[in-house]
Amino acid sequence: MSRLDYESGLEGDFWRFTPASARRLFEDVFGAGQVEVEAHGNVLACCGFLLGLAAEEFRKEELDHNDPYFPLLLCVRAVKSEESTARSGATRAASDGKAAILLYHRIDRSSRDRWRLCVSPGNFEKQLDRLVARFRPVSLRELADSVREGRVPHRSIALTFDDGYRDNLASALPLLKDRGIPATFFLSGDGATAGGSFWWEQLDASLEKMGLDGDEARELHWRLAHAAEEDRRRRLADLPQGDGPFPPRMSEQEVASLAREPLAEIGAHGWSHRALSPLPAPELEREIAENVRALSGTLGVEIVSFAYPFGGPVTPETQGILRGFGIQAACAIGGEPVTARSELLALPRVEVGDWSGDELEARLETLLEG
Ligand SMILES: [Zn+2]
Repeated sequence: MSRLDYESGLEGDFWRFTPASARRLFEDVFGAGQVEVEAHGNVLACCGFLLGLAAEEFRKEELDHNDPYFPLLLCVRAVKSEESTARSGATRAASDGKAAILLYHRIDRSSRDRWRLCVSPGNFEKQLDRLVARFRPVSLRELADSVREGRVPHRSIALTFDDGYRDNLASALPLLKDRGIPATFFLSGDGATAGGSFWWEQLDASLEKMGLDGDEARELHWRLAHAAEEDRRRRLADLPQGDGPFPPRMSEQEVASLAREPLAEIGAHGWSHRALSPLPAPELEREIAENVRALSGTLGVEIVSFAYPFGGPVTPETQGILRGFGIQAACAIGGEPVTARSELLALPRVEVGDWSGDELEARLETLLEG
């Protein structure tokens, strides 16, 4: 609390919570004439509050004295007008649906999962059953179309898988097909490969060999995530080699068979799974271009969706390049719901953990209804 600014006066001080600023805030929502504001307080009451004194330590008349320049308590009564109620109701019906995009990596059990990418097949199955029973599974393409049209069906859920692990085909796809749930698979290019798997899997094994953990491990991961392909390969080769097996990535033939599934859509995820920012424009473009061209060349289909490696950051420069390659929807992370106001090239996603069906449902209820 502080004294109102004498120069601005009682109706002109908006620098703090004052009767004037409270009125302005509430009238923005409820409309002019729908808000009553009263302030109570004086210098002594303010001092008593700051010092933590009890009301009983003051005389009644000391507390009842009102000095408008030292408000301690603001009382606001706001009444919804019929017009504002109708307006907000109409807006909600048209565009206030909340949806979510789920992000998975691996559907597998693994004793080595430093980056927490695994959801066990058992939990995944329970999660899918819960999605079918309590939500509205849709494809990413359908969800993106609804964002574009400004009408997001409430409780829509789109599933996405990043990187291109073989278990997506072997473990996730049959469970998705059984339930008719569509999914988008964002695949990195060959530049992300190391020993038949991904570079971060090889790094994980090396870190284990070195007994590195915590900040040191994260620092090394950060350096490799920002390194160019060749540099990264050299650095990985210089580390003590960890023991396999590494979880395999899909082969070209496996990607082609996945793409033939009517419920599956293939999207791009960066040629070498390199952090896109702050890359110089030609390297940034190469990471996107090589990945999109290789996928569309192999599959003979247009690639229209993308997931930012490591979830972002999303920059106008990257978005411009994505647009140039015909990308219509790009997924980041952020854990927020998707609404009609979401940006199509910065769609937030929820990273799913190895949760039970109950836990997934509870988290989605909080996200969509909270
Ligand atoms: Zn990834």
